[in-house]
Amino acid sequence: RRNALQTLRDTPAVTRDHQRIELQANIELPDDVQAVRAEGGDGIGLYRTEFLYMNRDQLPTEEEHYQAYMQVIQGMEGHPVTIRTLDLGADKQCEHQPEPGSCINPALGLRAIRLCLKETSIFRVQIRAILRASAHGPVRLMIPMLTNLWEARQAREIIREEMHSLAEQHIAMDRAIPVGAMIETPAAALTAESFAQMFDFLSIGTNDLIQYTLAVDRADDSVNHLYDPLHPAVLILIQKVLEAGSRRGKPVAMCGEMAGNPRYIPLLLGMGLKTLSMHPASLPEVKQLIRKLDLRAIKPRLESLLQNPDAEDFAQAIRDLADC
Ligand code: PEP
Ligand code: MG
Repeated sequence: RRNALQTLRDTPAVTRDHQRIELQANIELPDDVQAVRAEGGDGIGLYRTEFLYMNRDQLPTEEEHYQAYMQVIQGMEGHPVTIRTLDLGADKQCEHQPEPGSCINPALGLRAIRLCLKETSIFRVQIRAILRASAHGPVRLMIPMLTNLWEARQAREIIREEMHSLAEQHIAMDRAIPVGAMIETPAAALTAESFAQMFDFLSIGTNDLIQYTLAVDRADDSVNHLYDPLHPAVLILIQKVLEAGSRRGKPVAMCGEMAGNPRYIPLLLGMGLKTLSMHPASLPEVKQLIRKLDLRAIKPRLESLLQNPDAEDFAQAIRDLADC
């Protein structure tokens, strides 16, 4: 059994019709890299950096950021590492948020990039550390919770300024570091083509995208039954993002929980996703499933199913795609 798992780890995720799928991992701590390597992840598709800010009184220094990123980059030995900038607020609270608890609705409040663009000195420290780390491996920088192009432009401008300042000090970095946008609000999904134009890649964050599309708090058990990744509205938005990416020639990944759930894998590959990022523990099962799928069989069936996503047996039909 051990040997079988090791073989699986070293085998690429390829469908029966020879479509290579990148299977990346979501991590929250530098030490999570061990699990990613053990499960054969192709890279880090989402490095959540909130841990640097949690359970402490002081903000993390640039050096602390840098050390954490270096540990992940070195552990990944040349595989891509997608570092997401700070996403505090809503379900991710800590001591440093201005006036914690005073938000009327934290999910709709000053979180993630909104907080970073208000407290730009906090943001700049992280950006500098990510840029410095990019000299040591294939680092990608990713911005969470964008809703409009003003935020996108501001974020890109701050990155440009910090690049300029590092360059003036002759500090090494990857001047061509890919910068991506998380698409996790309906607003960003509906205008994804503008984001695709401004960024090097997109990554769909389904945890928040579903929450905001369906007006269902992702952390509230009492409405858990309404949190439906197969809701037609969610699928339409995912489709829109994929179309925007292909029109603008920019890669689109998915890094929400939906991407690691075998139930949705045939649907997502059939829709055209080629990069999925998930909890490291989900990698082997998802890879095994992908190696059994034939997209030539799935795509025509999916096309006809998506004509009528309100159908009562839609969820079951989506699951059945795996048997194609
Ligand atoms: C998401 O929203 O889908 C996502 C991947 O980000 P997080 O779960 O950290 O909000
Ligand atoms: Mg999110």
